[in-house]
Amino acid sequence: MGRQNSGRRRYDDQDQFGHTAVERGWALARPAIKLAVSRALGRKAPYQMSLSLTNRCNFRCDYCEIPEQQRPEMDTQEWRDCIDALAGAGMGRASLMGGEPMVRKDVGEIIRHLKKRGVYATMNTNGWFVADRFDEVAPLDLACVTLDGPREVHDAQRQEGSYSRAIAAIEKFQSAGVKVVTMSVMTPRGAATVDHVLELARDMGFTAFFQIEHDQTMDVFAPVGASFSQQSIASLAETLMARKREGWPIGNSYAVLELQRRDGRRLGGDCSHCYAGRYFGYVMSDGTVAPCLFTQQQQTQGNGRAWGFVEAWNRMNPPRGPGCACVPIHEVNHILSLDPRVLWNAVEMAVSDRNVGIRRL
Ligand code: SF4
Ligand code: SF4
Repeated sequence: MGRQNSGRRRYDDQDQFGHTAVERGWALARPAIKLAVSRALGRKAPYQMSLSLTNRCNFRCDYCEIPEQQRPEMDTQEWRDCIDALAGAGMGRASLMGGEPMVRKDVGEIIRHLKKRGVYATMNTNGWFVADRFDEVAPLDLACVTLDGPREVHDAQRQEGSYSRAIAAIEKFQSAGVKVVTMSVMTPRGAATVDHVLELARDMGFTAFFQIEHDQTMDVFAPVGASFSQQSIASLAETLMARKREGWPIGNSYAVLELQRRDGRRLGGDCSHCYAGRYFGYVMSDGTVAPCLFTQQQQTQGNGRAWGFVEAWNRMNPPRGPGCACVPIHEVNHILSLDPRVLWNAVEMAVSDRNVGIRRL
């Protein structure tokens, strides 16, 4: 008997990658179960991986010299092999990073491969290419668009014309049902413009994250937020906590904001307390597997290509250093520590009708 077209989705309806709802659910649940078991047994598991496709970028932001750090790039097939290996070892979430991931012409192929493997796929982007090449990135589950403040601040510290493109990218993702969060890199100039980002977040329906700038070299031993005084970092954290209490759509949890208020520059303290390299990590464009961007130099370069990506993950040196101010990483650290305040913040964001273009407040 043929399938009746009732207009309702059935559990065995297939998506564009040939997966049924049951298969999609299992693909998300299996790595999470593996993570929970590994966590309980104290074993490593590459659950959440950042895949840095390239150091190239069409921008030259004031606070970043990644595009100057030229680095070889794996080709499309090598990225497919990397994804297959890590997905087999328990990767449930992958974030495409750069540089700007969309300077690669094969970004769409890589995203589709992640989705075929059932991996929850996100991408960090400056938004420049999104509207023109949307079909390539439409299968993403979530996009993180960088947004540093109002047009004059954003364009001055990033790229002339980039504010309009970032807003257009957010609208495009939302109109297609892709969840959106933004990341604002706080410089002393941008710190005064938090409210502009929050008003946009409320009106457009996304969640905004904020973090202070790192040193341009992204080295763990380099200063963090050198242009800020300790007092101004604390005051920024207090402002964000106050706005969050008022109901503004801020992604940073109270727990991490409180760390920022107290410790300022190194949110979680020493790297030995971090779960990077145990439950999440980085693959650099040349195939180096590292705990994080800031400690990549502590690994054998190109180790994933040379040893295989799972072997490189297992043999990785534990990270060393005084810590960093990377907000998303410290949010994940608190989730993995089962901090109830951060777990609640994450659940609230996951079930929220924000991020899909629905107005709140
Ligand atoms: S911050 Fe992002 S968009 Fe700006 S130069 Fe660095 S990689 Fe490019
Ligand atoms: S605290 Fe974690 S993410 Fe930050 S530099 Fe250290 S190992 Fe890397």
